[in-house]
Amino acid sequence: MHMPAPNPDVLRRKARIVERLAHVLPDGAVIHEEHEVRAYECDALTAYKCPPLAVTLPASTEEVAAVLRVCHEERVPVVPRGSGTSLAGGALPTADSVIVGVARLNQVLETDYDNRFVRVQTGRTNLSVTGAVEEEGFFYAPDPSSQLACAIAGNIGMNSGGAHCLKYGVTTNNLLGVTMVLMDGTVVELGGAHLDAGGLDLLGVVCGSEGQLGVVTEATLRILPKPEGARPVLIGFSSNEVAGACVSDIIKAGVLPVAIEFMDRPCIRACEAFAHAGYPDCEALLIVEVEGSPAEIDEQLGVIKQIARGHDPVELREAADADEAARIWLGRKSAFGAMGQINDYICLDGTIPVSELPRVLGGIRKLSERYGLEVANVFHAGDGNMHPLILFNANEPGDLEKAEAMGADILRLCVEAGGCLTGEHGVGVEKRDLMAVQYTPDDLEAQMRVKDVFDPEWLLNPTKVFPLDVSETRRLGAPAAAA
Ligand SMILES: Cc1cc2nc3c(=O)[nH]c(=O)nc-3n(C[C@H](O)[C@H](O)[C@H](O)COP(=O)(O)OP(=O)(O)OC[C@H]3O[C@@H](n4cnc5c(N)ncnc54)[C@H](O)[C@@H]3O)c2cc1C
Repeated sequence: MHMPAPNPDVLRRKARIVERLAHVLPDGAVIHEEHEVRAYECDALTAYKCPPLAVTLPASTEEVAAVLRVCHEERVPVVPRGSGTSLAGGALPTADSVIVGVARLNQVLETDYDNRFVRVQTGRTNLSVTGAVEEEGFFYAPDPSSQLACAIAGNIGMNSGGAHCLKYGVTTNNLLGVTMVLMDGTVVELGGAHLDAGGLDLLGVVCGSEGQLGVVTEATLRILPKPEGARPVLIGFSSNEVAGACVSDIIKAGVLPVAIEFMDRPCIRACEAFAHAGYPDCEALLIVEVEGSPAEIDEQLGVIKQIARGHDPVELREAADADEAARIWLGRKSAFGAMGQINDYICLDGTIPVSELPRVLGGIRKLSERYGLEVANVFHAGDGNMHPLILFNANEPGDLEKAEAMGADILRLCVEAGGCLTGEHGVGVEKRDLMAVQYTPDDLEAQMRVKDVFDPEWLLNPTKVFPLDVSETRRLGAPAAAA
């Protein structure tokens, strides 16, 4: 195959940028060889790939600030990256960008059990935050299924949630403060070691901003005392719609389980084969978990089981002990990996009002028939955060495009039902061109003005979040960075 000769100007510019970055970072913290940067060419949305110009791995806020100053002066786009598990292409590089990876920013900086917070560098993985405080009887509540790998940086970038967020809230509800580096290298502190700060809620603006506003290097996180006990119950149903109706009734009744998770038959089968969790053979399954003292658990489960019986369940079984409970959760948390072993899929992330679950699940089934593509459903049902997995064959020409078109129709259905395009995975590149389904041009303009304030040259995480034509017009019209 004939490869075009590299443009000498581009090569000279790359060499200069790499040299300047290497000058401000320790040895080994700048990666630029073609075969090395390939490891960063995509995130978990692997349908999109593009190797970056270079990757930097700073180990402190000061080093991040030094990298951003160089990039700002050279007018190089910067892509903040946690562990690269985004399912929306949120950490996808562009060919001219420098990745700022947080893998070396992994220290616990302070723990304060009296005031119930922990301050960490944001490269720390989600699960290892709980690991740092559990001996003292505490935990960090947001629990994305990717929690073994994903970093607090990415959790903040995407305002991530998880199975147990129904009761404890998502990242934004458990984030007290951040240290963030702006594109010109300025370091800012937002929030602190206390709930709520005076003035505008800029912390709320930053959480979920998908790397558009700055690079977050440190985070103060709320930690909670571990509950006395917890117990999940498995409830099997004869159809998706009946399971959806049961979720709606549980929420309506006012009991607040820690988690209500939903799986349909394709997911149940894949997870059972993967984790031997003891799931029943049925069309749809709910895992409902409650926690508290033994008496509180019995009381809450009593109400939930009574509601479930009203929907003719084909199975109703409480976990007998901690081992069984752990197996039940291992199965659920392995769902994406287990499905990935048997099929290519794209994972959607629309959120709808819980009362709309039966109707939207029925709508998804009709779309699946119309497009001729199977859908597996696994999601956080208690807060209406749906994850239809559209199964397709990556080796079949046109199948990916068909799956994407069907995905867009499902997300339109979620918006029409009063919901939104994304509950926890973010917009990234995946949903940027669907933003107009949910937002008017005026809404989008207001959001872009916020970015103008933090990142006037539009250098941070290009091509994400906003419709591409709109964001490119904005970026190209942005004022030039001061050299
Ligand atoms: C198997 C699997 C299961 C998953 N389950 C869940 C789930 O249950 N719940 C859920 O919410 N998500 C889930 N996800 C999606 C993903 O794990 C989350 O979005 C996660 O928070 C991403 O973290 P990360 O460290 O990998 O971030 P990345 O993918 O590296 O980046 C995510 C976003 O954050 C931005 N970002 C990264 N670092 C910074 C920084 N320092 N400053 C500013 N912005 C930054 C990036 O630019 C990007 O936009 C799952 C993914 C997989 C593969």
